[in-house]
Amino acid sequence: MKSALSRALRTAVLALLVVHLQPVNSIAETTINIGTGSITGVYYNTGSAVAKMFNQKRQEYSTWMLNKPSAGSIDNINDVLHGQNKFGIAQANFLFDAWNGTGLWETGPQKDLRAVLGLYIEDLTLVAAVDAEIKTPLDLKGKRLNIGEPGSSDYQTSSGILTMLGLDPQNDLQVFKEPTLLASEKIQSDDIDAYFYTVGHPNLSILEAVSGERKVRIVPFEREFIDKVVALKPFLSAESIDVALYEKLDNKDPVPTIGIKAVLFTRKDVDDETVYRVVKSVMENLDLFRRQHPAFSRLTKENMTHGVIVPLHPGAEGYFREAGIAY
Ligand code: GLU
Repeated sequence: MKSALSRALRTAVLALLVVHLQPVNSIAETTINIGTGSITGVYYNTGSAVAKMFNQKRQEYSTWMLNKPSAGSIDNINDVLHGQNKFGIAQANFLFDAWNGTGLWETGPQKDLRAVLGLYIEDLTLVAAVDAEIKTPLDLKGKRLNIGEPGSSDYQTSSGILTMLGLDPQNDLQVFKEPTLLASEKIQSDDIDAYFYTVGHPNLSILEAVSGERKVRIVPFEREFIDKVVALKPFLSAESIDVALYEKLDNKDPVPTIGIKAVLFTRKDVDDETVYRVVKSVMENLDLFRRQHPAFSRLTKENMTHGVIVPLHPGAEGYFREAGIAY
């Protein structure tokens, strides 16, 4: 009798627990991932912002969008191509290379990539400790520079910039290959003198880098160098970093540098409805979306539908057509 009662009680408790542990919205809900970047970058904030807009209708869509950290553009492109994620964010130059089968994608053009939305401009940013006396990029000679983890977008970009500056990573300077996530700590612990990061502003990496004892500056690029690089590709632009975004930064004036657009993208075979919903949820809440991060403040319908490197996904086109937005 006693054991039957305790069995019944146990069953009841278990049933209660199951009901209790079941998240209210999880029934028949699918998840879709958006591949972003390091949690101290702006891709991560962007993934959260897109997910926030989309998830307002999470119940109606029975779909929950999740932000997934990554090593950035290159990983995001490969993860979307290989079906690990439905969406990703990437720098225009990497999308260009993947689409055309150049650079890291020499194995073949990746014609399954499709654009969803154009995003903000990222800036090539050289962060340096003031005591290392790096006033121009060429002062990196003989210094300790972090270029990012091999295989990461930061590593590719930093290596490319060093080559363009005429600096040999083997002989001219001491190169560190830590993930950029750690670079802000390493500059404060005096393990490195500088690091490259192509990123929107403001971001947590630089905020952290400038917040310690060691004084830090963002190193300006020379006009001539900027013009030379920008002339190479239509998706590169001359930009300047607003130093007022970082209170403790050593700089007083805007920092000239090279800018590149970030693009939200997907794969050809992702269903039109999902892409349509993602675009609609951002575009119909554009004011709210812009308020999710200062880097989004210059986003307009115009720059979000143009300069996206790869063809727009039909789901995105469908929304723009319906909303009367030129694309
Ligand atoms: N531009 C960087 C990359 O492609 C990411 C920057 C960020 O996470 O905001 O990896």
